[in-house]
Amino acid sequence: MDYVGHIIRPPSEAYSMIIQVTVGCSHNMCTFCGTYKDQKFYVKDIQQVKRDIDEASRYRFERVFLTDGDVLILPTERLLDLFAYIKKKNPHIERIGVYANTKAILKKSVAELKQLKEAGLGIVYHGIESGNEDVLRRIRKGALPHKQLEAAQKIKEAGIVLSQTVLLGIGGIDLSIPHAIDTGKHLGAMSPDYASALTVMLLPNTLLYSDYVQGKFVLPDKFGLLRELKLMVENMDVTSTCYFTSNHASNYLPIKATLPDDKKQIVALLDNIINSKDESILKPEYLRAL
Ligand code: SF4
Repeated sequence: MDYVGHIIRPPSEAYSMIIQVTVGCSHNMCTFCGTYKDQKFYVKDIQQVKRDIDEASRYRFERVFLTDGDVLILPTERLLDLFAYIKKKNPHIERIGVYANTKAILKKSVAELKQLKEAGLGIVYHGIESGNEDVLRRIRKGALPHKQLEAAQKIKEAGIVLSQTVLLGIGGIDLSIPHAIDTGKHLGAMSPDYASALTVMLLPNTLLYSDYVQGKFVLPDKFGLLRELKLMVENMDVTSTCYFTSNHASNYLPIKATLPDDKKQIVALLDNIINSKDESILKPEYLRAL
């Protein structure tokens, strides 16, 4: 397989065929993200991509995940051609998944997204990080909450499963509470099928890390991060069922909840842990990872 640079995928795509279609991220500006920092964005040669599909199709897969950062940025016709090729070579494929940023989603019409859904696009992973405008500006996310909401609504209208990620700690200690509350409300308004909270990891090749070294960015402590998690869940008033998790390797405490049903129970659990200040319940620092 012709993999270039870092290949990352959501945990739920662990058993998927991984095909690299683009290299890097077309935005590549987020202050906390070091994944593609030294990688110039480009679209891979389609013949190479097809050779990789041929090679991977020697094995049976039910899911495909297309990397890197934002495959949805490709023109719809190219994506349709690619999806058709995947399904021809691997007829057992039931779902195609991609990461997508807000700009890439908004460039597509709902009609185009519906065409992609018909062709196999089953899930879009949308990293929103925060629902707070000041935080989003500060981290150079490239999309403010109203645009993220518009993008989420388009994905849902097209009937594609929406999975969103948010970042505990990304508001720093100064914006910790507004970040948590606004993110919870934002997730409620978007009501994704899946939502997942990760925790900021300070990576030396990022702007956020420089700010941290200079004392301009201060992370909340472990229990401050759990308070963010609690506030997010507490403020998340979903209009349809959402599976909310914090079981990513970067987190101190894994939770799994079906919202709205489990909200009270999760908030009470987090309250107890925060009040106990018992660090032995939390994941040790050396086990945290991206
Ligand atoms: S977080 Fe996502 S959008 Fe931001 S630079 Fe990293 S890959 Fe690109």
